[in-house]
Amino acid sequence: MLSGIMSAKILDGRIARTELAKKLDQKVATFKATRGFPPTLAIIQVGDRPDTASYIKAKKSFAVEAGIEVRHVHLKENVSQDESIAEIDKLNNDKKVSGIIVQLPLPSEIDKKTIIDAVNPSKDADGLTSSSVNRWNANKSGAIWPATARGVRELLDFYKISLKGKKVCVIGRSELVGTPIAAMCRSEGATVTVCHSKTTDLLKETLASDVIICAVGKPKLITAQHVKSGQIIVDVGINEVSGVKLDEEIPKRKLVGDVDFNAVLPILGDSGAITPVPGGVGPMTVLALFENLLDLCGKI
Ligand code: NAP
Repeated sequence: MLSGIMSAKILDGRIARTELAKKLDQKVATFKATRGFPPTLAIIQVGDRPDTASYIKAKKSFAVEAGIEVRHVHLKENVSQDESIAEIDKLNNDKKVSGIIVQLPLPSEIDKKTIIDAVNPSKDADGLTSSSVNRWNANKSGAIWPATARGVRELLDFYKISLKGKKVCVIGRSELVGTPIAAMCRSEGATVTVCHSKTTDLLKETLASDVIICAVGKPKLITAQHVKSGQIIVDVGINEVSGVKLDEEIPKRKLVGDVDFNAVLPILGDSGAITPVPGGVGPMTVLALFENLLDLCGKI
């Protein structure tokens, strides 16, 4: 970046998380003082995928810092559906457990919907049971939103960026990420276009938007030509590029988003904003999961 030229605002998820975690700490302290035990999140893991293990590790390390207990239930890859449901039922009936998540993806032999719907909706910290999906889709108050959608909303709120009346282009429509993010944007009063792998003219859609939220999983999907001055770019994608030197400026960088950050940044101008990867949406997602947990604690 040349000195003296104003640049787009960087929406730093680490700064936002540090600030917002203070409120969470207070809620944790109140819960402990009134109940005599810490808020507890149960994480069900099936099998041994290395990426799953690393996501769980990140959640556990956040929980330790926040004084939250994590009950990690690790089931073997070939566990039967009935056994998995029986484990979830034990947690449903455990008064010390306030929230339960099933770490996705599950082995293909297991019916994801059946397992997720085995979680009692009053303990659904991921907001993915059919009951929760119906609630957030209908924008019911008190709905538990999936963590990525909540994390994006809170990051934008932290930087005082309102979606009300804005044209938002959400790229990606997965059940876990793109769909809840699009629903969240609608609930905030945005006009939302959802793009996906069959979208014929992505360029036209991104250029017609005030805000682009990309959740695909493809490095450099969004380049300089997709953006214009003044836009807000939220990069949800996380892509590992081990061994590849993507940018001269950041050698050996291992994680990148879907947006070509260095190419896009100068186009956005000083009225635009963008999330980095890493350090943007990712830290907010972990925080949002535990905020969901504390919301559930408040309901018990
Ligand atoms: P996913 O299930 O693979 O879904 C990808 C979505 O992208 C699909 O809807 C797909 O369209 C769409 N897509 C694929 N190629 C496209 C293209 N060329 N143009 C436009 N759309 C395209 O992935 P996911 O679970 O939603 O995750 C998306 C990304 O978010 C991944 O990088 C993941 O690691 C990341 N993620 C980040 C966080 C965080 O905290 N930052 C949390 C969760 C996930 P179709 O529906 O037509 O197939």
